[in-house]
Amino acid sequence: MTSPLRTDSTTRAPVKVQAPGKINIHLGVGGANDEGYHELATVFQALNLGETLTLVPGGTGSIIVQGRYGDSAVPADATNLARRAVDVLIAALEVDRDVDVLRDIDIVIDKQVPVAGGMGGGSADAAAALVGAAHLVGGVAEDVLHDCAVAVGADVAFLLHGGTAIGRGRGEKLSPVLTRGTFHWVMATSARQLPTRDVYARFDELHPAPGPAEVPDQVLKALAAGDPDTLAESASNYLTEAAVSFLPEIAEVMEAGRAAGALLPLLSGSGPTIGFLARDAHHALDLAVLLQATRGVNEALRATGPAPGAHVVDSR
Ligand code: ATP
Repeated sequence: MTSPLRTDSTTRAPVKVQAPGKINIHLGVGGANDEGYHELATVFQALNLGETLTLVPGGTGSIIVQGRYGDSAVPADATNLARRAVDVLIAALEVDRDVDVLRDIDIVIDKQVPVAGGMGGGSADAAAALVGAAHLVGGVAEDVLHDCAVAVGADVAFLLHGGTAIGRGRGEKLSPVLTRGTFHWVMATSARQLPTRDVYARFDELHPAPGPAEVPDQVLKALAAGDPDTLAESASNYLTEAAVSFLPEIAEVMEAGRAAGALLPLLSGSGPTIGFLARDAHHALDLAVLLQATRGVNEALRATGPAPGAHVVDSR
């Protein structure tokens, strides 16, 4: 299958791409396999709180990180996930395609997703970089882009596609989920960071013999019906206890959100960001005001889902 982005030739004009952040509406975690990866059964939802990348051909290969979280510790070398994504795409294509336009690109990241917050900001950068790089070389088949995404990170494939989806395996085996309407979230960020690896290691200590990772049917029914109240009764994140063991303030903020009227406080991925489900846009605004004044909350950001996956917003 070829991408709808396909054009006849490579282009050297800058390309601007947006990619969403995400919340795991449900995160079921099973045991780790021989390679140390945990079997997941998660429901991702892409949020309209996302990243914007500009890929500029003819540069010096630099990475500039700016925006709301531009001063966070994000690597500017080959380990940056956006750069890694471009390098993986070059390796996949260079045998039979002209990819020279990608070798010296500068990447400007407008960082609006908190770093190491469990909202997949680095993965969003990788997804955006893949879509932008695909555009610059005149289009890339969807299955090739998907494979490159999986090679960079487990969440990258979902952020290419967006919407709402079940992710199995490491989260890369995706199946779309039917949803109705818009879900309103308040994302309470933390000034602290929580490395994903550490949270999973603690999960293993707490659950030496975990059961299978599952998505409750009720979660899927609530999403299909657009019913936040039922969703709040059925969704959960198996990593919550592990994350709280590192940062007890997570439990305090979750409790404060409940007391403020949130339908469901939900750790986002491995945290420390907490997503609070609201009934509607007005409820989200009320919640955001209360949460912004809560100890342990750095920022209370409103977001809605589902949002589209990585896509080009401007090119010449
Ligand atoms: P996830 O929810 O997918 O586990 P996260 O949202 O918790 O991820 P990220 O913000 O994606 O975490 O970043 C995790 C780490 O990856 C950072 O601490 C940083 O060192 C590294 N990193 C590499 N490239 C990037 C990037 N473009 N943006 C953010 N972090 C990056």
